Amino acid sequence: MMKYLITGANRGLGLEFTRQLIARGDQVIAACRNPDKADELTQLADSSEHLEAVHALDITDPDSVAALAKSLENDNVDVLINNAGRLSRGGSPNDFDFDEIQGDFAINAIGTLRVIEAAMPALRRGKGKKIVNISSKMGSIGDNSGGGSYAYRMSKAALNIATRSLAIDLRPEGFIAFVVHPGWVQTDMGGPNGLITPETSISNLIERIDKADMNDSGQFIEWNGNRIPW
Ligand code: NDP
Repeated sequence: MMKYLITGANRGLGLEFTRQLIARGDQVIAACRNPDKADELTQLADSSEHLEAVHALDITDPDSVAALAKSLENDNVDVLINNAGRLSRGGSPNDFDFDEIQGDFAINAIGTLRVIEAAMPALRRGKGKKIVNISSKMGSIGDNSGGGSYAYRMSKAALNIATRSLAIDLRPEGFIAFVVHPGWVQTDMGGPNGLITPETSISNLIERIDKADMNDSGQFIEWNGNRIPW
């Protein structure tokens, strides 16, 4: 039995992670921006002792992240799943939308690092020592044949390079840190044309996370196990 901390756990992939992990008997600490409006998550918390807590967390807000750190003071976390994210297009070369670009950076790249910093003491007390950052193929430079999506692509590419550094910096302590691409999934973000369901994406990702070892640290892994070019 492992204990997971999951951000953005109120809908989409974060909710599915929570569902599947508690169903198999793992413990989950769920975090989301508005627990008051997270009906499905609250129902899960009411019906399962494996959902340990639902924390209010806006990953862009230093006070909110500090409150999470405080709540973890006497706790341990085995696996951190940085799932919260936003997709904005960011305009075009003639008309960039810098607010969108900054906004996606604040969430996908910087917000994720804030959560990692807050969770480090609890992760150090844990036995899993895994940090999983949900990135996207759209953050791959090698895979970019479509152009556009400046905001999202730049923020996920930044998350990718940060994860490689985390893998190197934390390796001496035994941490495994890597990025995963969940596939094009039918969620609010992926839309109804997504190629796979949240159930398929997450059952595969959980298998990848379970099996991840030092050889996977610092790598960019797809839901089906394929390696993605940086
Ligand atoms: P959704 O848009 O369905 O859900 C996004 C989640 O992130 C929500 O829980 C949202 O909370 C949360 N979130 C956004 N901003 C913040 C914030 N500032 N603080 C805390 N939580 C925040 O997306 P998915 O479930 O589809 O995506 C999950 C992850 O997977 C993302 O990182 C995404 O980039 C990645 N991904 C998804 C793909 C897909 O096809 N679906 C493809 C590739 C990657 P709230 O409800 O409050 O807005």
